[in-house]
This record gives sequence, structure tokens and C-alpha cells, in this order.
Amino acid sequence: MTTSPITVTVTGAAGNIGYALLFRIASGGLLGPDVPVRLNLLEIPAAVKAAEGTAMELNDSAFPLLDSVNIYDDVNQAFEGTNVGLLVGARPRTKGMERADLLAANGGIFGPQGKAINDHAADDVKVLVVGNPANTNAYIAAASAPDVPADRFNAMMRLDHNRAMSQLKEKTGTAISDIKKVVVWGNHSADQHPDVSYATLDGKPALEAVDAQWLDSYFVPTVAKRGAAIIEARGASSAASAASAAIDHVYDWVNGTKEGDWTTAGVASHGEYGVPEGLIFGFPTTSAGGEWQIVTGLDVSDATRAGIERNIKAAQEEIDAVKELDIL
Ligand code: NDP
Repeated sequence: MTTSPITVTVTGAAGNIGYALLFRIASGGLLGPDVPVRLNLLEIPAAVKAAEGTAMELNDSAFPLLDSVNIYDDVNQAFEGTNVGLLVGARPRTKGMERADLLAANGGIFGPQGKAINDHAADDVKVLVVGNPANTNAYIAAASAPDVPADRFNAMMRLDHNRAMSQLKEKTGTAISDIKKVVVWGNHSADQHPDVSYATLDGKPALEAVDAQWLDSYFVPTVAKRGAAIIEARGASSAASAASAAIDHVYDWVNGTKEGDWTTAGVASHGEYGVPEGLIFGFPTTSAGGEWQIVTGLDVSDATRAGIERNIKAAQEEIDAVKELDIL
């Protein structure tokens, strides 16, 4: 081991996703097999005891890369010196909850977290928001951190991307490593637009292997509604696959995407594809040197254009609602 530990802060650490995520981070999956990590776990006071139990298990796993595990219920302490922040804890939508109540509750979480990141995190901080509504929560956190470049706040679209890859594999038998250039435009919500227009399977266009009927009537709704299908089957929401996607996202952000491929990341728009500047939106992205680049210049079909517009509208409505609530 040559480098000093990287500080990774995980919020909602005692939750289901946290439980699946922390062990992958500690074993080197997030940053690489040679990078030691210091884990800062943030929880609400009522869940600190559960986080302590998880910390005991992390320590008992004797991971060579795990420098230390520290538990906090204070947001400023949890983000002190943070290099990578994984914002998982959020207020879930409960039955009958209005959107305004959901946004107000999450604004109360992600606004202070953004401010704490602004004031306490390391200069190179990278933040991935997992807690839903992820795109809007990432926007709130970014807007609350004026000294941190907006490009450092991402929303997780990778699970949607991975789900799209998995459906293509199941349909065509193509190995995951031979499926390239899938994208899921927009938001991590039912509005998302999974798109295989540019995808290749074993180097051949995916559109030659799958027909429009399958894409429209099976692929798109299956990817977009996968979360609900997993709840139906498991009796609990997806947690390990969400954790795995968070690992994939940060690993690629830090270590770079593969030559000849891209991934989907929810990143701040600079106006690409007509998406208003500042919206955190799922785009085709490559990474090099620790920075995402949105893939530009793609020909966009009418269906994709409509999908992008639908997602812009949904994202903008949530942000307008947040502004009306005086969260920002
Ligand atoms: P999970 O760990 O299962 O989920 C956490 C968040 O991730 C939810 O907002 C969930 O959204 C979201 N999420 C994103 N993608 C997915 C996906 N594919 N599948 C499932 N969830 C997804 O929730 P738990 O209730 O088990 O744990 C949450 C923890 O966060 C609790 O321990 C709580 O105490 C903590 N918390 C901490 C806060 C803090 O640190 N300040 C603030 C609030 C909560 P959705 O619900 O829409 O599925």
C-alpha cells in the first residue's frame, strides 16, 4: 500500500443499500485494489446504534484496505476532509405523501449536506447522490455548495444503465463485456428514456438484433419499472444492485471509462442536447483524469428527443417546486 487513505463518507449508512455498499468499498471495489479507505458513516441519531453494528462487522472482516470506520450524527463532522461522498440516506416516499412534502423533507437533508460538503470536504471532493429523488436531491446539494464545481455533484443513473444492459444480455445472449454504448437519458424515475440507438452487441448495431416492438413494449417499460418488479419479487426494494451501481459509477469516475465505450451518469448539463444548464441529467458520458465528459454530437431520433423533453419537464417541475418551497 503506497497511498494515504481516501476519506469516503456514506450517509444513511445503516440502511439496506448502506449494508451492501460499505463492504464493497472496504474491500477495494470503489477506488481500486491498492487504495486504503477511511470510512465516515453519517446516520440520524436513531440509527447510530445500527451503524455501530455495521462498523463492528466491517472491522471484523479485517479488510487490509480499511484504515478506520467513524460514525457521526453530525453532518459537518461527517464531511470533514471527504474525498468521496455517497449520499444514500433520504426520506422515502410513503403512502399518500404529496410531492411537495417529499421535496421539503429531502431539501432538509440534502441542503445541509451540500453546505457541509462546501465547508468541510476536501478540495477534490466527488459526490454521488443515490437517495431519491436522486436528480433533484443532487441539484439541491450542488446549489447549496457554491464553492464546489457543479460537475462534482452527480446523480446515480448507473443502475438504470446496468438494468438496460442486463435486458439486452437476456434477450440476445450477448456477454455484458460485448455490449457497448447503451444510454438512459434523464432522471432516475419512471420518466427515464433507456435508448439503444447507438448500442452495439459484439460490434454490430443493437438495432439489427432487436425489433422496435420489443424495445417499445418490453425493454423500455421493464428497465424503467424494474425497481417495482424487484419489490414485488423480493418483498423489499433493490439494495445490492443499487450499491453495485454506485460502486461502478464512482470507480469509472475515478479510474476512467473503457476505450470505445461510454456509460450513463447523472451529471450537470452545460446545455448539451437542449437540457437546461445546471440540471443533473442522465447523459452518455466518458470519464478520464477524474472528470466526466458528456458525449456530444449524437444524432437524436424523434423518440429520444421526446424522451429528453419529457425528462427535462419532470426535472424542471421538481426544481420549481423546490424553489417555491424556499428550499433554495
Ligand atoms: P435504502 O438504503 O434501501 O435506500 C436509501 C435511498 O436510496 C432511498 O432514498 C431510496 O429511494 C434510494 N434508492 C436509489 N436507488 C434505489 C434502488 N434502485 N433501490 C432502492 N433504493 C434506491 O433505505 P433504508 O430505509 O434501508 O435506509 C435509509 C437509511 O438512511 C436509514 O438508515 C436512515 O436512518 C438513513 N437516513 C440518513 C440520513 C442522514 O444521514 N442524514 C437522512 C435520512 C435517512 P426510494 O425510497 O425511492 O427507493
